[in-house]
Amino acid sequence: MRPLVKVKVSSKKKTTGSVRRRVQSAATPAAKAARPAAKTVTKTAKPAAKTITKSAKQKPAKKTAARGARGRLKHAEPQLLIERFQAAIPDPHVELHFKDPWQLLVAVILSAQSTDRTVNQVTPVLFQRWPTPEALADAAQEDVELVVKSTGFFRNKAKAIRAASRMLIERFGGSVPRTLEELVEVPGVARKTANVVLGAAYGVSSGIVTDTHAMRVAQRLALTREQAPEKIEADLCQVFAREHWIALSHMLVLHGRHLCTARAPACSRCALNELCPARLSPPDGSWHERAAQEASDMAERSLGFVRALAARA
Ligand code: SF4
Repeated sequence: MRPLVKVKVSSKKKTTGSVRRRVQSAATPAAKAARPAAKTVTKTAKPAAKTITKSAKQKPAKKTAARGARGRLKHAEPQLLIERFQAAIPDPHVELHFKDPWQLLVAVILSAQSTDRTVNQVTPVLFQRWPTPEALADAAQEDVELVVKSTGFFRNKAKAIRAASRMLIERFGGSVPRTLEELVEVPGVARKTANVVLGAAYGVSSGIVTDTHAMRVAQRLALTREQAPEKIEADLCQVFAREHWIALSHMLVLHGRHLCTARAPACSRCALNELCPARLSPPDGSWHERAAQEASDMAERSLGFVRALAARA
């Protein structure tokens, strides 16, 4: 029995081994060709599948994001916005008081981080005491500081308006230059100040004023997605024709300052309500009625300024 068992086992082993060798030898060419091929297919297929899966997941996300961005940026027709702004603010103007470009330049420098009302209380005293650029440039720093103190940052502001006056005398013959490039060289004058002065004093369309009020209104009307003043100005200048830039600057500022305020915008009374993606409440009455009311409020405020000026004179 024992030899038989050994024989069976060895024969099985031999058979298995020989079969394996035969299969291997017979299959080697194909296997050599097939195996790498199979590996290649598998390796190639897996990353490809992954790639497809990833791109399939990403594409809808990208589309959604793009649609969302376009949706947020979708603003009303510029002409419609202008039409309603013109009805609500028929007399767009700067609320700072001035008699000439130099006075406006000084007032705008003082208005940084302050209110026009405060500046309008300070400038009559300032210009009475130092009525020309020469006089202000020669004034003592401490004396000017005392006069402009209530506008805040008074040391820097006193220094800036004296230095600006000095530069006007030394480089521009005592006049405020009429180009943006020259004006931004004056101490204390950045692009926003230059746009206000050029537009309001000379009627030069150098850009659109983007102070905190104008930027807020532009963002709420979906005219921009930007945060930086220069980028918001660039967006606005693309949307609106140059002929509207000066008036629109005042309209955005006045609308933001008096109606579309930061904390409590009066959306139900806003003439632009139906055109505004950020409105918080439905409109009251027709847009013509709302525009007429805003215009009336604006006129009343202007009259108040004139009365206050007359009372001080
Ligand atoms: S509807 Fe409201 S948020 Fe829009 S511009 Fe008017 S006040 Fe501002």
